[in-house]
Amino acid sequence: MRPANGSWRNGPGQRSSRPLIGISPKPLENALGWIVGLIVACGILVINAETHSHLAPTILYITLLLMAANLFSINVVILVAVICMLLLTFTFLLNGGYHSWESATGFFRCLTALSAITFLAMRSKYAADSLRHNEAYLVGAQRLSQTGSIGFVAGREALSWSDESARIFEYPLSEQPTVSLIMARTHPDDRAMVQQVFDKAARHERLIELRHRLLMPDGRIKHVHMIASPLSIHHGRCEYVGALMDVTVSRQAEDALVRTQSQLAHVTRLTSLGELAASIAHEVNQPLTAISASGEACRKWLDRPEPCLGEARQSIERIIASAGRASEVIGRVRALARKCDPLRQVESLDAILCETLSLVQHDIVHHRITPKVELAALDGRVSADRVQLQQVIINLIINACQAMAAVEVQRRTLHIRTGVQGDEVVLEIADQGPGIASDVLPSLFNPFFTTKENGLGIGLSICRSIIEFHGGRIWASSPAGQGASFFIALPLVSRDPL
Ligand code: ADP
Repeated sequence: MRPANGSWRNGPGQRSSRPLIGISPKPLENALGWIVGLIVACGILVINAETHSHLAPTILYITLLLMAANLFSINVVILVAVICMLLLTFTFLLNGGYHSWESATGFFRCLTALSAITFLAMRSKYAADSLRHNEAYLVGAQRLSQTGSIGFVAGREALSWSDESARIFEYPLSEQPTVSLIMARTHPDDRAMVQQVFDKAARHERLIELRHRLLMPDGRIKHVHMIASPLSIHHGRCEYVGALMDVTVSRQAEDALVRTQSQLAHVTRLTSLGELAASIAHEVNQPLTAISASGEACRKWLDRPEPCLGEARQSIERIIASAGRASEVIGRVRALARKCDPLRQVESLDAILCETLSLVQHDIVHHRITPKVELAALDGRVSADRVQLQQVIINLIINACQAMAAVEVQRRTLHIRTGVQGDEVVLEIADQGPGIASDVLPSLFNPFFTTKENGLGIGLSICRSIIEFHGGRIWASSPAGQGASFFIALPLVSRDPL
């Protein structure tokens, strides 16, 4: 499981101008090879001088050849083989050449054996070289992609990992990997999750995937992603092989992107709140007018020669209810204006829509638009950030209202429908405006795409990033001459009433 040795110790993300791994033999091994080679060569010379047999020098030639195949390049092996064959032939000739049938067959037997061993040594040399290169490529690729390999048998403490995995966990390459070492580096909050994965392995699950955090001794947090699948089953125990990737950098980039998008969403929310100022003022003004009227009535009931306390109490109740409505509207506006990180909870899309409609109600009336609302999502729940979804709905309704500004009043109908389709909760906002040209549709959600004179062109792109953050889809359609329809589909979490 442990690939060829590549022991560069660069930190994550660091790049060295040196090669990723070394594949040439070590200098000491090289020197030793030459010394032993010389000793064998001397042995050959001595034996050649002392004996007329070909067998003893041939064994030494073969030894020399195998050593060369083990230590040197293919060219050196060929050179050594040729020299050995020449020496064998030279010794044969020196000893009188062909003087008997026996000596000739002995010479040819040794030459054949030497040739056969040379052939086999070269084949194994080629195989070993290509194996070493493949291992080197694997180690290099692991180093570059910061992906290590890991192998474990379910229920066993000891495991194996590549050097890159050891680097990711920041253990010395010589350390024997174990499950306890992995657990020791796992963030305390993620330990239960990692344990669950080992439990899954014990049940021989087909694919194991895990994203978790590591807590390094110096307090640094790393994010890793592991995928493993079964390799074989021995004696009822499943052996898994997997890849382990350090995704800290991409995770940090993702987090930064989410933060930036959330800030941008906040800014655009403030922009749409500005556009809704008249609506909001009207929404707050209504209960204030009611408070003032109920206050007047209360005073009248109390000013009577015989104060009517029952009626006065009722007026006070109305004042309290109206004050509650006003503070509810202000609360919603404050929630929209507040800058906070997205918080997803199980919500009813219908309830979010109703709340949002009360904020844009005055705008709809002001544009002399007839809203037609059909709520059929009923108990369909979604996992959503309430404020962000309100922002999307407000943006789509404001766009629809603006699109119908040039249409005659009788045709200004805004259809708002919700429903559950398969495993999604779908919201449709359809207007009777001029519609969207088919060549414009693909770029509608691109940042800064606008056809309005004072438009920013970021509303729809923010809507898309919010809906994608919620794991949903947003799209638009515009059948010729029938206005535009915008759809949002969010994954259905449950159908239970809240
Ligand atoms: P902005 O409203 O600032 O232009 P948006 O991202 O909200 O930015 O909208 C981008 C563009 O999409 C608009 O300029 C308009 O051309 C088109 N669009 C959005 N909604 C509608 C709609 N209901 N009908 C027709 N066109 C629309």
